[in-house]
Amino acid sequence: MQIEDKAVVIFHYTLTNDQGELIESSKESEPLAYIHGQGRIISGLETALEGRKSGDKFNVRLEPSDAYGERTDELVQTMPRSAFVDADDLDVGMAFRALSEGGETIVHVVNIEGDQVTVDGNHPLAGQALNFDVEVEDVRQATEEELSHGHVHGPHGAHE
Ligand code: ZN
Repeated sequence: MQIEDKAVVIFHYTLTNDQGELIESSKESEPLAYIHGQGRIISGLETALEGRKSGDKFNVRLEPSDAYGERTDELVQTMPRSAFVDADDLDVGMAFRALSEGGETIVHVVNIEGDQVTVDGNHPLAGQALNFDVEVEDVRQATEEELSHGHVHGPHGAHE
């Protein structure tokens, strides 16, 4: 069948940036499984998968707006070290959950200078164009149970 709303899609992908650097590849582990048409994967990739079928291979380049969005300077904040629970163990690159107006977000420590800690709430891939190399492994109809759970069951799924 072709990829359409409520189809379970299982696919491998390799993600690189415009410099050709590898960001991530499912081939190092398991393929990704998702239910099409529910906004569970980034919008540009979901659109590119529409209408494909098992065995299809394709490349797609997504502008930041179709991927993780543009970077926002307002999401970069500097605060005193004492604002952190584990103040003594802070290091550049560490990730924390933070509450904001939009709900829970992940922030990364990007700089530490003395007592001042700078965190960035932008997605690490925000502002970047993404190149996906996609291989569709399998397409099938989602079961009622999968649709009610909102995720895929069985091999590569959330649970059996
Ligand atoms: Zn389930």
